[in-house]
Amino acid sequence: MFWISCPFCGHSFHIKRDTMLIHGMDEGIEKRLADGSYFTHECQHCKKLFYMMHPFLFRDPDRKYVLILSNQESFNNLPVDEQVVVCDRVPDFLLAYKIFSQGADARVVLRVKKQLEARYEGSVVFDSYDCVKNILWFEIDKQMVAVCLDGCHNKGCKK
Ligand SMILES: [Zn+2]
Repeated sequence: MFWISCPFCGHSFHIKRDTMLIHGMDEGIEKRLADGSYFTHECQHCKKLFYMMHPFLFRDPDRKYVLILSNQESFNNLPVDEQVVVCDRVPDFLLAYKIFSQGADARVVLRVKKQLEARYEGSVVFDSYDCVKNILWFEIDKQMVAVCLDGCHNKGCKK
């Protein structure tokens, strides 16, 4: 159980949420992580939408990564041979999930995102990775923009 309070009106409430998910255990949650809605909550009082921040861990033992949403800095009992990414904000965690779950290269995605942000004024949102054509898709001002990557970044791709 978590104690959450609405950032708009201060309404606070208890909510029961999972704190850990292994890839393949719950497709429903993974779908909501992928579309970015998993942490979104509508306040029952003022009806505004906001992100609920609570500790959450996602692990994919096959692709060997662990994504952690937490304000903590150190963690016990993490697998030593898997990449661990710690995020302290919900949008960062959702971006990390999008990148890692599609087998994209986080460094490449963040570098291209930065380049696009420098070139366009609007917000740049990473959408998806086409590992067959090796293309990154971004949404900029409601338009889809494709960025073809040179070389091979599709390690771990299972499509
Ligand atoms: Zn509220």
